[in-house]
Amino acid sequence: MTTDIKVPDDVLSALRRYERILITAHTHPDGDAMGSCLALAWALRDIGVNALIFNEDGVPGFLHFLSLPGPVLTSVEQLPCDPQLIVVLDCGDRARVGEALQPLLDRVPTVNIDHHLANPNFGTEANWVVPSAAATGELVGYIIQELGTPLQGATAQALYVALSTDTGNFSYGNTTPGALRLAATLREGGLDISSIREKLENNWSEAKLRLWGRLMSETRILEDGKLAVALVTRQLLAETGATREDIEGFVEQLRRLTGVRVAMLLREDEKDGKVQTKASLRSSGPDNVRNVAAQFGGGGHKNAAGATVALEAEKTLLVMQPYIRFVWSDR
Ligand code: 5GP
Ligand code: MN
Repeated sequence: MTTDIKVPDDVLSALRRYERILITAHTHPDGDAMGSCLALAWALRDIGVNALIFNEDGVPGFLHFLSLPGPVLTSVEQLPCDPQLIVVLDCGDRARVGEALQPLLDRVPTVNIDHHLANPNFGTEANWVVPSAAATGELVGYIIQELGTPLQGATAQALYVALSTDTGNFSYGNTTPGALRLAATLREGGLDISSIREKLENNWSEAKLRLWGRLMSETRILEDGKLAVALVTRQLLAETGATREDIEGFVEQLRRLTGVRVAMLLREDEKDGKVQTKASLRSSGPDNVRNVAAQFGGGGHKNAAGATVALEAEKTLLVMQPYIRFVWSDR
């Protein structure tokens, strides 16, 4: 396993050259996306950069315990002026940044830092795409080490959230020695790991508990037990009062079933008055679910991928199932 990931010079020089930098990540940010933004923003502030963070969806509720280096902007109107550079983190393609920022991406130089396979190197100033990295946070950790700013306090908390989210608390197959070494450095710097875990995990609403109960009992076991699917319809969300955030992590529960090779969660929502379904796919080892997601215009990683389909959840299952069979039968 390669452990020597070096920060490219063009990435470092871009971060050192500009005074007003906007940092962003994918919409509906997870722990890696938002944790990476916050950690990098703290470090850039430490070297005197005016670093702002942008995300259409803001900071998700489960990360409200993290300290912010400044406002997290949710609309471009909140920008005092154009930034000199945009750093895009954890986005497998440019569209994942969201619609609001697209015009700005057209006119401002961008640095693209990511760990998704098949990232098309959309950065105009620099690209650093390392699919073997455990998390975008791992890459951000190396940048911070190069900048020489302290990996402590709020920076350490944000970076730990990024690393632990994408590695399943340092237990998934993507966990690199580098991610573990960074975690060790954070711990040496005094990071209270147990308090972060407590804040991340012991924070369920009653609505979330009820939703997970319903999803567990209504999960469909298909394909001779190799496929487990949970459907989150608009009706189910309305009945339980649960939010989109409350669904995060459920698909991992389905991977726990003995014999299941592919776990999938299908979540309906509406965009511009039309129904659509977000598919989240999970697998283990050699089983590649990114291939399935890619057929539907999505992407991700070998064992964790997603796509959005312009159909109801039931119909999305029908159209995806034939492709899913090939996850375990193509060898
Ligand atoms: P999740 O199922 O947790 O939303 O996403 C799992 C992985 O697939 C993440 O790495 C995420 O970035 C990626 N992913 C999810 N949805 C999409 C999508 O619509 N397009 C692309 N390119 N990647 C996605
Ligand atoms: Mn990530």
